Amino acid sequence: MEVFNDRSCSWINDLNLRSNIKTLTSNEDCEWMIVGAGYTGLSAARKLAQIHPEQKIILVDAQLAGEGASGRNSGYLVDTTLNDGFTSNKELANYKKKADIYKLGIDTIKRFIKEYQVDCDWNDTGKYFASSRIEDKKILINFSKTLSKLGFEYDLLSNDELKKKLGTSFYNTALYTKGGILLHPGKLCRAMINTLPNNVQLYENSSLLEWKKNKDTIYCKFKNTNIVTKKIIFCTNAFLKSLGIKTNYNFPITLTASMTKPLSNNEFKSIGKPKEWGVLPVRPMGATVRMTKDRRILIRNTAEIHDPFKMSDEELKKRSINQKIGIKKRFPELPEDIIKSTWSGVVSRTRNSSQIFDKIDENIFVAGCYNGSGIGVGTLFGEQIAIKASEENSSEIEIIESRNQPTWLPPQPFLNLGVKSRLIYERYKASSEI
Ligand SMILES: Cc1cc2nc3c(=O)[nH]c(=O)nc-3n(C[C@H](O)[C@H](O)[C@H](O)COP(=O)(O)OP(=O)(O)OC[C@H]3O[C@@H](n4cnc5c(N)ncnc54)[C@H](O)[C@@H]3O)c2cc1C
Repeated sequence: MEVFNDRSCSWINDLNLRSNIKTLTSNEDCEWMIVGAGYTGLSAARKLAQIHPEQKIILVDAQLAGEGASGRNSGYLVDTTLNDGFTSNKELANYKKKADIYKLGIDTIKRFIKEYQVDCDWNDTGKYFASSRIEDKKILINFSKTLSKLGFEYDLLSNDELKKKLGTSFYNTALYTKGGILLHPGKLCRAMINTLPNNVQLYENSSLLEWKKNKDTIYCKFKNTNIVTKKIIFCTNAFLKSLGIKTNYNFPITLTASMTKPLSNNEFKSIGKPKEWGVLPVRPMGATVRMTKDRRILIRNTAEIHDPFKMSDEELKKRSINQKIGIKKRFPELPEDIIKSTWSGVVSRTRNSSQIFDKIDENIFVAGCYNGSGIGVGTLFGEQIAIKASEENSSEIEIIESRNQPTWLPPQPFLNLGVKSRLIYERYKASSEI
């Protein structure tokens, strides 16, 4: 199956068209092959190239590099997340492990940005976990106790304060965390592509169809060509399952998002000219909403089991109506038709929200499954899986490997039935927040 790129993501359409795109047209052999050129694959390639400057590294992607989830996400580089479940002390320890990984992810991106002088609209403005339901304050107070124990700075806010900061009176309760960065995911991906070292050969629009290992060699089949490699790293995230990798541990969830055009001076004035902000939902199925620095509003308010390879225009239009309603609920003063683009993207989940970071066979490695925290964690895991595959060690690998391991998933059709009914239940519980 080919991955279909809907070409309708505002973040990606903000960027200049690339001119240096190469597709695989002849058979190749190499020392290293990396499959998937999102944050994970791009940073694995950079790290491998630094460790092995004399070796040939091939990076392939089924579509254009960085145009999967990595270029089309909501742009929150998170230090904390709310919806992972943590009530007992044991879970507090688990939460700390997760937060330690987020921190390493932020540090990895910071280093990259500093080293290559990257402009990706970085804004360390913090983020809000917000809800219109006053009763959700209980959840936020509970969460604030965890944050206090772990030394995170936060503030609990009510409707009036939120109205001033966000330009909407929709939200009645929120917890603001000081940590966390908002950025332009497309610009970050583009910088990672532009700075790939010379010994990385990037082939795009080149889908890996089948692969097999025979003794010390891995044979990879593409449409009209083959690559023979000694070592391989799978970084295809939501598409791991389709390549037969860790099939009992991960599953794809499709999200859709919309972005408005930039608000006019009058529209911006009508909502009180707020500074850039980002809201994450308190309820798992609520909407993520962002005001960008150039006055666009982003909303992501669907998550579903869907064919991860393609969402049709008709299906996107239906989801866009949901997003129009979501914006109208929050900003009734804005005109009806301000959505400029709607797109879908796929995240990868595990049962217990733990990430995959593994050697699955001799010379075969995989990193992925970050749900909504892949900007930092994907970039970190990419680098670190390259180090692990090179048989080197690092303090980051020790921290990553001390996390909980992903747990086993039930087989189909029970998996889809279970996930679908959970999503319906969560959507019902978050119906006011969509
Ligand atoms: C709408 C949306 C909002 C999100 N919001 C956030 C957020 O605010 N913050 C955050 O941190 N995370 C967010 N995420 C999650 C984040 O985008 C992902 O965790 C992250 O991009 C994963 O990076 P990756 O490189 O592992 O995978 P991807 O970016 O998905 O890259 C995998 C690549 O593999 C390629 N591929 C697949 N199959 C094949 C094949 N057979 N052959 C060759 N190539 C193949 C794909 O084309 C793709 O480019 C969001 C995701 C979505 C969809």
